[in-house]
Amino acid sequence: MARVLAERHLASGHTAWVAMSEITDGDMAISDLKAREKSIQEVSQSLVEHNAGLAIPSSQHWSFLTQVHGFENIEVKENESVLGLEGDALFTTQEKKVLTIQVADCVPLALTSDCGAIAVIHAGWKGLLNGVIENASEALQKKFPGDQSAVIGPHIGPCCYEYGRKDLDSFIEIFGASVAGVTDASADSLDLMAIVRVVLKERGIELSYRDDSCTSCDSKFWSYRSSGTQKRQSLVAWVEKN
Ligand SMILES: [Zn+2]
Repeated sequence: MARVLAERHLASGHTAWVAMSEITDGDMAISDLKAREKSIQEVSQSLVEHNAGLAIPSSQHWSFLTQVHGFENIEVKENESVLGLEGDALFTTQEKKVLTIQVADCVPLALTSDCGAIAVIHAGWKGLLNGVIENASEALQKKFPGDQSAVIGPHIGPCCYEYGRKDLDSFIEIFGASVAGVTDASADSLDLMAIVRVVLKERGIELSYRDDSCTSCDSKFWSYRSSGTQKRQSLVAWVEKN
């Protein structure tokens, strides 16, 4: 069932909502728009059912990207929705615009800004190397200055993300020793969340909430690493004026 990860009351007088879908809410991958529309309805319904009184913006206000593990971010402006443009982060100050990121192992992340803006970010290993979080945070800060804080959704854990030693070493060189993990089978692994923590700390972004459910261990989520699936759960976020 879809659930609210965080409800943040911002200095601007807005409330930011960050929620996460699960397998039972349907596939949020964008390949089939009709199926996606149905999934949006299911995620909305699931959220309302489990969070009494929550008002979800209607499906025509949902934006999504064709994610390419890059670093481009796209602003959702007034009277607009983004439907499948290439990029890996969305941001907006517009109320009731639902920003979504699709994942099946990568880290889904929302940034809230005290000025009432939000961003959502798709952060896999490639995006993290490309500076996808820094880039989105900077874009948000430039247009809408204010303190930022991060909400992190379920992602693959070091328990399941086996990594070759050589590749792992190149991450350690960039982000430090904390990114080295160990799988349940005692093999080397990459700790994506540790990289995210390093990046947030460098940018001075508070980590306000994180869900460390492992998408590979936990059967509530799709995992590309465990099954090669093309299906995706979604992190969804929006702001509204109180
Ligand atoms: Zn795991």
